[in-house]
Parts: sequence; C-alpha cells; structure tokens
Amino acid sequence: MANRIAPPFDETVSKFCKDTGRNLTEVTNLITAFAAQYGEYGKNLNTMAWLWVQNQGMAPLPLKQSSTPFSTIDKPYLTLNQVLSKESGIGENTGFAIRGWVFGRREGKSSTGGPALYLTLADGTDAYDVNIYGKQVETVTALGINLFDAVYIKNAQMHRMNQNGEPLTTPRIQVSGQYAETKKITTGEFDLPALKDIPASPLDSLKPYQTALVKGLVFETNQREYSGCPNCMSKFKEKVAYGASSDCPGNPAKQRASCGRVTATRMAWTDIHINDQSGELKLSFGPSFDFNEEQLKALRFRPIVSIGYLDPESNSLQSRYMNTEEQFNKMASAVPTASVIPAPNPAPVSTVSTATPVVITPTPIVTTPTTATLPAPTVTTSNPIPPGAIASSLPPNGAVAPLVENWVRLMGPKTEAEMIKFMNEKKHIPVQAVKNTVKEMIEMGILVTDDTGKMRLA
Ligand SMILES: [Zn+2]
Repeated sequence: MANRIAPPFDETVSKFCKDTGRNLTEVTNLITAFAAQYGEYGKNLNTMAWLWVQNQGMAPLPLKQSSTPFSTIDKPYLTLNQVLSKESGIGENTGFAIRGWVFGRREGKSSTGGPALYLTLADGTDAYDVNIYGKQVETVTALGINLFDAVYIKNAQMHRMNQNGEPLTTPRIQVSGQYAETKKITTGEFDLPALKDIPASPLDSLKPYQTALVKGLVFETNQREYSGCPNCMSKFKEKVAYGASSDCPGNPAKQRASCGRVTATRMAWTDIHINDQSGELKLSFGPSFDFNEEQLKALRFRPIVSIGYLDPESNSLQSRYMNTEEQFNKMASAVPTASVIPAPNPAPVSTVSTATPVVITPTPIVTTPTTATLPAPTVTTSNPIPPGAIASSLPPNGAVAPLVENWVRLMGPKTEAEMIKFMNEKKHIPVQAVKNTVKEMIEMGILVTDDTGKMRLA
C-alpha cells in the first residue's frame, strides 16, 4: 500500500477559504492554535490543516500518494516487458529505471491543472505510455525530448491503484517527484536496440489497451469529415459552412471552453485499414492528423508503420504516429547514434518531506502488458561521445525532422522560409538547425520541392 500524505498547507487552507468565504489570516491563526495542542506532532502543518478542516465538518482535499520511493530496484534498467509483467511484483513506491525510443509525445494537464506530458516509449520488448508530471515536465521539456529521441528514466514508479486505493484496470508508469531523473541517451547505451530494430507486433496479437508498434500494407482508407473549430477541433453542433465565421462550441463534456469567434474549418477523422500476415487492423486518426485525399490515395498499397493503443470499443488502433515504412526506415537510420545535446544541469530539488504533490490522474491511454514474444534486444557496448558532438548546441537533425514532417503533413506544402519561421517562433528551434534538417531531409528524399518552390513530403 502506498504512503499517503496530506496536501500542502496552502492548498488545504486556500480551498477551505474559497469554499467558506472565510479570511485566510484568521483561518491560519486558528489552525496554528489547533496544531499547538499536539506539541511536536503539531509541527507538520500539512496534516494539521487537513485535520482541522475535517474538524469543521468539511471535506478536506483528498490525501495524496507520496512520490517518495521507499526502495529502488538496483539494476541499470528494466525492459518495459519486465516492468509490466505480472510477475515483476514491483511495489507502488519502488523506483526503477527504463529506457526506450519516444514514439509519441502529447502535452496535457493533470487533474489539478498542473502540467503533464505523455511519452509513448518502445524498447523492443513492449511499447507503453509514461506519464510525466510536476517539475519533471520542465526537465523533459528543457532537454528537448521529442519523437525518435532515446531516453533513459531513473526512478520511474508503477501505479496500480488510484488515489482512493482502488485498483486500476491497467498499471501506469509515472515519472514525478524529487527522485526522478530523465536524460537523452544514444543507441547502444543501456543496451538500447537501434530504432530500426524495434519489432512490430503481429496485428492479431494485440490486446485491449495495449500500446503497440505495428506494420502493415494499407488496403483501404476512409474519412469522416466535419466542420469544426480550427483551434480546439470541436465540432459545430449545426453544420457551419467551411470558411464561415461562427462561435466555437467548445466541448462541455471535456470541460473545454469556447475559443470565441472562429472560422469554420474542415476537420476529419481518418481510418486506415492495414494487413499483415496475421490479420487486418483499422488505424484510427484524430482530426489533428487531417490527411488530405491525395495523401490517402498515395498511401494505398504502401507499407506503413504506426503506433497507438488498441481501443476495445471501436476495435481500432488509436494511432499516435504513422509513416510509410520506407520513410520510417530512412528516419530510423538517420537517427544520430552518438550525438547528444549537452543536458542542462537538473534544478536543485527540495528535500522537504511533503514532496511535490503527485497527481494520480487516470489518462485515457492505458495499456496492458504485451504477451507477444519479441526478439531479445541486441547487446552492444555503449559508444563514447565524441567531443565534437558535445560542442554543438544545435539539436540533432533527427530531433527536428519529425516536427518538420508532421507540420508539412498537417499544413501542406511550405517554403523553407515558412518552415524556418514556424520552427523558430513556435518551437524555438535555431534557424541553422531547421536549415540543416531541411537540407538533410531533401537529400534523403523525405522532402521534395514542387514547381512553385514549396516543399512537400515525398
Ligand atoms: Zn475552439
């Protein structure tokens, strides 16, 4: 059973004052007086405030699960399959290390409104979502961790229960709190197999909620179009003509507010049906992927690579990533094996025992352990990093290329100037890094220039 801790004093008190309209100073004084009765024990004001609120006949904020690992597994790393196997017996407050390739990256919010980052990792034994919360989100963002980066995470934790102590349908790997550490690594470090050697799961082997890397031939595609808000992609309740101005409906079910007056834009859900030797599978893509007809036509009869989780309701793979197998292989062989960005020093961590609040938010993406037998990772010795690589402060092209590729896929043909402007202003990527990447992507045949001088995906 996990350790439970009271929420921070300030949180408890401000919630109470908000609910009751009482004065902050007055309440603080009352709690201090209440705590004084308990002598030494009363010095933990977090629990005292929590108890005092209960004494007033009010429900205090729920207790939080402590992020403090009571023990750590003394191994350089565990494979995802080892972590997820039922036999692993990893306790709730046990830190362990994992490593893998980033195949999906989504930003989000925790249930208390704090930042959250969801990385889908694959390491050759399994694929899984890793939920990052609190200060660790800043660390991971500062490292510039993106698609196709290899990462090493120390003191990740496994959660099998929610904050009420009820079992989760599928366990969650969480990275938060003062002991967690994340860094970029290279192929071979910690025996990480090369990106191109990450195996795909047979299509007929997937289990509900399992996150998997799949490969197959596209034999059918279709789209469900709708008119929606270009910012939040919410659907207009009554169809608004594309290009017309209307009020964004927001999404009350997801507590998403209206974006105000917007231009109705064509949005679409896309289904791509693929096969492999074992069977067929429908890949489902949300509106942010928005393929156009021409792109879909070009995909037919081509082998593709995708990653996502199997949604049992629609019996489809909710996809996070897709590319043609050819482009994926090009990308995989272009991923630098021994050039890393120098990592900023991690910020000093507080040693206060009432550590960072741990947010136990069930994310919609949950997975179950894979049972498919996959080849053992290739063991190679880790390459020393050449000094030249460290001297460069530009992100490796392998990190920028997926961004350029996704953006062009979403937005259509673009000039190099447009790419530089967007990547520099919106993604804070140095101009030279964008130029280098675009040059390399053209050389590799991933981007091609059309008659008007704009670049599109090959
Ligand atoms: Zn909107």
